[in-house]
Amino acid sequence: MSTPTGFMEFSRQLPIDRDPSERIKDWEEFHKHMSDEELRTQGARCMDCGTPYCHTGVDMAGGTSGCPVNNLIPEWNNLIYRGLWREALDRLHKTNNFPEFTGRVCPAPCEGSCTVGLIGQPVTIKTIEQAIIDKGFEEGWVVPKPPERRTGKRVAVVGSGPAGLAAAAQLNKAGHNVTVYERADRIGGLLTYGIPAMKLDKGVVQRRVDILEAEGIEFVTNAEIGGNIPAQQLVDEYDAVVLCGGATKPREFNIEGSDLKGVHYAMTYLNGTIKSFLDSGLEDGNYISAKDKDVIVIGGGDTGSDCVATSLRHGCNSITQFGTHEKAPLERDSLGNPWPQFPNVYTLDYAQEEAKAIYGQDPREFSIMTTKFVGDESGQLQELHTVQIQRMIDDTGRKVYQPVPGTERVFKAQMALIAIGFDGPEQTLIQKLGLETDRRSNVEAHKGRYTTNVDKVFAAGDMRRGQSLVVWAINEGREAAREVDKYLMGSTVLV
Ligand SMILES: Cc1cc2nc3c(=O)[nH]c(=O)nc-3n(C[C@H](O)[C@H](O)[C@H](O)COP(=O)(O)OP(=O)(O)OC[C@H]3O[C@@H](n4cnc5c(N)ncnc54)[C@H](O)[C@@H]3O)c2cc1C
Ligand code: SF4
Repeated sequence: MSTPTGFMEFSRQLPIDRDPSERIKDWEEFHKHMSDEELRTQGARCMDCGTPYCHTGVDMAGGTSGCPVNNLIPEWNNLIYRGLWREALDRLHKTNNFPEFTGRVCPAPCEGSCTVGLIGQPVTIKTIEQAIIDKGFEEGWVVPKPPERRTGKRVAVVGSGPAGLAAAAQLNKAGHNVTVYERADRIGGLLTYGIPAMKLDKGVVQRRVDILEAEGIEFVTNAEIGGNIPAQQLVDEYDAVVLCGGATKPREFNIEGSDLKGVHYAMTYLNGTIKSFLDSGLEDGNYISAKDKDVIVIGGGDTGSDCVATSLRHGCNSITQFGTHEKAPLERDSLGNPWPQFPNVYTLDYAQEEAKAIYGQDPREFSIMTTKFVGDESGQLQELHTVQIQRMIDDTGRKVYQPVPGTERVFKAQMALIAIGFDGPEQTLIQKLGLETDRRSNVEAHKGRYTTNVDKVFAAGDMRRGQSLVVWAINEGREAAREVDKYLMGSTVLV
């Protein structure tokens, strides 16, 4: 236990991020650190409750409750309180291969299920996690640790997002020879091409990739399995294949006018900017720019928010974000959304905070649906037509959205970014290998086993569970590696 009464003595504090109106002028990370002493005080707020829901990651009521990689949170809170940073780092790495990613981008379901949160504000778990790993790198404690012996078994991992990287790291640790195949020109999956640089610096991703490479993992980029490299070749040449190809097939939005100039899918928009930024600091101009445009982002999730923050940095004229969901309450509904469920409460994320700093208000419109896009004679988008909607339960018990008559509106926009989610993994590789899929078109491979219907072939991460979170991808990559190790060796050395 840190201190028996810390949660009563100290209040929750978060680091003060960079000023939103300043940080939109660059692409640097917006996070700042707290001092060691402040972090020690925050660690002291952990009450060591005895049944720490914070480290039991489970799906609950359509969300995540607790930490999916089962981080040993009360233990490292206590170590930070005692000033034992290196020991805290070792404890963190036991369960999480990449805390520098989760410490930056995780929505922290651990905090939603923290016991202190039952009667007050939860412990600042995510901030402490990032501080531990960042100090680890600063102090030079995070160094390559190649395995002492090799098993002679060869494993191919397809896809280099957090699931593929976690699987590769664990399999390499077990002594197998691992090659990661990535179709993009850079390693990292959505950590590189997806999440923008101001949320996750690309140098932070590359730093970890360099360590994995120094530990003996081979990375092959521009290698599309089922494209320029035949899928069957991997199955024939390797002892096991782990598919971690993600789930980034965009959900289509085919309404009147969706083919107009100025209407783009979010990933095309975001990735163009990231690639141009990495290739040339945006000098090559090979990206879709929101400069001077009135931009409407359709979609209220993470991807939509990243479009808002990117448009602000391009210098858009105005920004609005549409969501079909209702505005969340200011406080957790203790009956409909009780602890330890992920709290559904009104907050501003980093992008909305930035938009508010510039334009004076939350950029979101809630319970709204776009009915058509309207363009000018040259085919350029000019307007979005919308209607307010309300959620109803139909005769079969399903939730449906009904338009509210008389609530029609017209919004001026020269750019619309569609961020309404994803429809599962791309199917080419799945079909080429003859893999079975579930009803949502994800690869059928049961959680905990990760085996597919094809011998030697395993699947993990978004490709198995659908678009999710970085922390779930790491969890699945680790667990799949354990199953592959068992398959290859008869038992496993991985925990
Ligand atoms: C814009 C955006 C923002 C997000 N923000 C957050 C966030 O803030 N926090 C959070 O927790 N989660 C966030 N997510 C979700 C998170 O990024 C994903 O859940 C996570 O990256 C999934 O990891 P993965 O390894 O399963 O797949 P991915 O990260 O999608 O990686 C899959 C990789 O496989 C490669 N690949 C696919 N097919 C082939 C093939 N045939 N051959 C070779 N390579 C192939 C792809 O190129 C890709 O690099 C975000 C998602 C998006 C789209
Ligand atoms: S990985 Fe996410 S859920 Fe787990 S401790 Fe870190 S912030 Fe919390």
